[in-house]
Amino acid sequence: MEKIMEILARYGVLQEGHFLLSSGLHSDKYLQCAQILQYPEQAGKLGGEVAKKFSEEKIDLVVGPALGGVVLAHEVARSLGCRGIFTERKDGIMQLRRGFSIEHGSRVLIVEDVVTTGKSALEVCEVVEKEGGEIAGIGSIVDRSPKDFEFPVPFRSIIRVEVETYTPGQCPLCDRGVPLVKPGSRESKN
Ligand SMILES: [Zn+2]
Repeated sequence: MEKIMEILARYGVLQEGHFLLSSGLHSDKYLQCAQILQYPEQAGKLGGEVAKKFSEEKIDLVVGPALGGVVLAHEVARSLGCRGIFTERKDGIMQLRRGFSIEHGSRVLIVEDVVTTGKSALEVCEVVEKEGGEIAGIGSIVDRSPKDFEFPVPFRSIIRVEVETYTPGQCPLCDRGVPLVKPGSRESKN
């Protein structure tokens, strides 16, 4: 997919500025893939791109963690011609619900819109392995994982985005007087 950064910026997926994250840290960028995934045609294209990253693999099933993986798993599965399901947390534990099943020995691709710490994706790996599935890899639209982070399975994304985060007392954006915005609020839309 060409000019992916331009597309992500146009749809408001990648916002640049001065953001207050839910962790309390400040950042210079904010990512919200739901802004592009709300358009089925675009979601289909992105799903196709993630699927292409694993084109040499035979994939039987795509699994994404709710909520960020639901639409993407559906669209990657559409592209691969297989089922797409999702896991969700109940009482803090990632699990399969709604009667979803993973056949023993099936090749499973795990997808998530943005991989940040990798925590959710790795929790899905555990669920898949517990059910007897084999993990083909993890795919995402955006990789913003820590630089030296290594996944125990193949991890491929459409694009890597570096996001700088700062503690409130040591934030150069605060120093420059850039207005702090809480992402997700209507005012933060550009
Ligand atoms: Zn700041």
